[in-house]
Amino acid sequence: MGKELFYKNEISLKKENHENYEKFSGEYMNFLDYAKTERRSVKFLKDLLSSNGFVDLEKAERENIQTDKYYITRDDKVLVAFNLTDNIEDGFNMIAAHVDSPRLDFKPNPIEEKEEIALIKTHYYGGIKKYQWLNIPLAIVGTVIMNDGSKKEIECGLDDNDPVFVVSDLLPHLDNRKGEVSKVFLGKNLQAIASSLPICNEDDQNDKEDLVKANLLKIVNEKYGLKEEDFIKSEFQMVPTFKSKFVGFDKGLIGAYGHDDRVCSYTAIKALTDSQKLKKSASVLLFDKEEIGSEGISGAKSEFWAHAFERVLYLKGIKDPVFKTHLIFDKSDMLSGDVCAAVNPLYSDVHDPTNSPRVHYGIGICKYTGARGKSGTNDASAELIGKIVNLFNKYNVGWQITILGEVDQGGGGTVAKFFSEKGVNVIDAGTPTIGMHSPYELISKIDLYETYNAYKCFLENND
Ligand code: MN
Ligand code: MN
Repeated sequence: MGKELFYKNEISLKKENHENYEKFSGEYMNFLDYAKTERRSVKFLKDLLSSNGFVDLEKAERENIQTDKYYITRDDKVLVAFNLTDNIEDGFNMIAAHVDSPRLDFKPNPIEEKEEIALIKTHYYGGIKKYQWLNIPLAIVGTVIMNDGSKKEIECGLDDNDPVFVVSDLLPHLDNRKGEVSKVFLGKNLQAIASSLPICNEDDQNDKEDLVKANLLKIVNEKYGLKEEDFIKSEFQMVPTFKSKFVGFDKGLIGAYGHDDRVCSYTAIKALTDSQKLKKSASVLLFDKEEIGSEGISGAKSEFWAHAFERVLYLKGIKDPVFKTHLIFDKSDMLSGDVCAAVNPLYSDVHDPTNSPRVHYGIGICKYTGARGKSGTNDASAELIGKIVNLFNKYNVGWQITILGEVDQGGGGTVAKFFSEKGVNVIDAGTPTIGMHSPYELISKIDLYETYNAYKCFLENND
């Protein structure tokens, strides 16, 4: 007696959804294998919006195209999409997520020859455990601004026939390094082997310096038309080449690079394109730079997304669009879609067992992240959690309550707080993930589907 009063945290496996799990996972894995960077993610999702009738806002502004469905991007790194209803001024249902993931970025002048091996020097991007990025195949993906101002997209390592790149660690036989992991595996040693054969310099037999680097630049010049200085005018990243795969005999989990946070980005855009009969206008906002604090022109701290709202209102002929945008933010609710740290059975002691997400238990509703006395977090109100939980219960969405680990264990943040600064009522809700920020993260195919379900339910029914 009394047990019927317990909060039932249970597995979200639903018989009627078996086919959906398979189909949705397949489409998502297909997306992830393409979307290895923020630019590629935005390109894929922009095309998806376009094929579902969404119109480029800048084109619409030029040609005064009147529709309900718009999207806008900046430098192909941030994407804001709208599906408008007649009652725009009643506020929006919004979902935000991020498309950048931890990786190794080239230094601006990256190539150096050491011991007759040409290396690419990197600076890691986001919070990584450095040793996890050693001895794995890496691809290079980059964007270069050429001398004539044109943009060139370059990639090597993603195609099965391409060579790959490796940061090679010291063999155990000769490794006497001892002490803290952070002091043994140094960021400055994240240098990838990029070439090893010297150029044939038959004209000058006395020139023995940097022949491997010369060979590398010759190949890169022939293949892509680049000179060394062009690397300074570029953004290159090294990302794991691994393809996404089901994990385990039962294929319950999906292993891949970049679930954080392309899973919430993909499900949010799918929810936007699939949702029907909206109660309110809807917007999905995808950002870059979350992993380094949402700074910069493509991060959530930039006003670009807020300006996009003003531009849409202006295009719709609404008087005083800037003022009205502020009022609209005050009346809007948002799910901040980001992955949460699921219990890893090997390290369960870093979690509080009754407040931690488990794989297969549905989307994680996260009241707060932060660290040391909830510092630096958007602590969602009872009013908003009440609204969302009641909504999910009414529509049978699989959800669970989460926080980020045990008290004083560590911490982290999401984009949520940048929207509450603007008056938007926001709560974190995203997919539980094991091995977050590693080159091969794990999520559940059930949670993937429930994340999509939750976002679609929110966009369609939250009032
Ligand atoms: Mn994230
Ligand atoms: Mn992250």
